[in-house]
Amino acid sequence: MRFSGLRVITEALRGNKSWTPHWRNPEPKAHYDAIVIGGGGHGLATAFYLAENHGLRNVAVLEKGYLGSGNIGRNTTIVRANYGLPGNSEFYSHSLKLWEGMEGALNYNVMHSQRGIINLFHSDGQRDAYARRGNAMINQGDDAFLLDREGVRKILPYLDFDNTRFPIYGGLYHPRGGTARHDAVAWGYARGADKRGVDLIQNCEVTGIDVDNGKVVGVQTTRGAIRAPKVGIVVAGRSSQVAAMAGMRLPIESHILQAFVTEGLKPVIDHVVTFGAGHFYISQSDKGGLVFGGDLDYYASYAQRGNLPIAEHVIEAGMTLMPMIGKAKLLRSWGGIMDMSPDGSPIIDKTHIDGLYLNCGWCYGGFKAVPASGWCMAHLMATDTPHEVARGYRLDRFATGRGLMDEEGTGSQHNLH
Ligand SMILES: Cc1cc2nc3c(=O)[nH]c(=O)nc-3n(C[C@H](O)[C@H](O)[C@H](O)COP(=O)(O)OP(=O)(O)OC[C@H]3O[C@@H](n4cnc5c(N)ncnc54)[C@H](O)[C@@H]3O)c2cc1C
Repeated sequence: MRFSGLRVITEALRGNKSWTPHWRNPEPKAHYDAIVIGGGGHGLATAFYLAENHGLRNVAVLEKGYLGSGNIGRNTTIVRANYGLPGNSEFYSHSLKLWEGMEGALNYNVMHSQRGIINLFHSDGQRDAYARRGNAMINQGDDAFLLDREGVRKILPYLDFDNTRFPIYGGLYHPRGGTARHDAVAWGYARGADKRGVDLIQNCEVTGIDVDNGKVVGVQTTRGAIRAPKVGIVVAGRSSQVAAMAGMRLPIESHILQAFVTEGLKPVIDHVVTFGAGHFYISQSDKGGLVFGGDLDYYASYAQRGNLPIAEHVIEAGMTLMPMIGKAKLLRSWGGIMDMSPDGSPIIDKTHIDGLYLNCGWCYGGFKAVPASGWCMAHLMATDTPHEVARGYRLDRFATGRGLMDEEGTGSQHNLH
């Protein structure tokens, strides 16, 4: 079924009786040409591009819960291409271009809104760092403007510009950045993959990876053994656990990141704003809720919920930046399991096992990466060679030290990425 404005109107007039399910609910087959473990954003996008770009249609996505139950449905939906280092720059730039064509490519409304992102700075040193980052973005072909204090005031008059500890000096403005509806992205890719023949198998946990003579031959699942000569591990926060099934120890730690949403308010924040002196970022959803987040919780965990000290810390940072939000009532908070890599940059690579591929290390930023990650992972699985914009995302950089991409300059200190 194709979606269109006309279709919505016709269905409304007919009592919305003819909509069909977005995807089938197939039984797993005994054999596939490729298996993708994980039905999050990255796994679903990988399956979609395997079918769309490489004609591989005998593919299964195995998801232990329901599609979109992981971080893809838990993030704060920020989409941007404002990275500074070679390796990351070209990848996220490619991703943003895919975002810009996503709704047409998927025939799905993911509510992509390029409302602009403003990263605030609060010192001369930070201004220099943002000027460098902005220049790198422009060199990459993306958009960046360095705003002075008055320039920021014109766009975001409600901020506290004269906070004694953190006065606002200016901001780096990235107009093509913004937000999208996170679970719609999962649904859009799922529907597109299903339409191209991919089997999306929910409630199917992978419990083992079968390797014979250095080559992957399939997986064990809670719904039986499934054979395939190519298997992609795309499980974000659970990467270490799933890779361990193939005897691998990954340079990944799993940490909790929390997010918060207030009651619905009239439109008040029409950009994404980040606080440069603390870890705090905020946008307003189309329903009116203020959506915000900040630092990781301070310990590694597989729990999908956070603790109160970080809630207090994030809300304090928000109040410092925009005291007006103190009047809003907090509606919900939740947590997701982040796959933190030591240099804050991801991994999309082959493993030492033939036919076994790895996609992880997305840290805070894997939502905006969804299209390019799926595109590059599909390219890797189909051709056995890395895609040119993901060449830097090698697993062995953590063993050799060559090619590390320490975007934030914070090394292995996860809480500072
Ligand atoms: C609070 C929060 C805010 C965030 N904000 C942003 C943001 O603003 N911008 C941004 O770019 N990024 C953000 N992120 C990061 C982003 O959400 C993640 O990096 C990204 O979603 C991870 O990739 P994914 O969608 O594939 O993960 P997931 O949706 O977690 O997918 C992994 C899937 O694998 C499945 N799985 C695990 N183990 C198995 C198994 N053994 N067998 C089968 N299936 C398995 C899981 O059930 C899960 O569905 C945020 C994350 C959180 C938690």
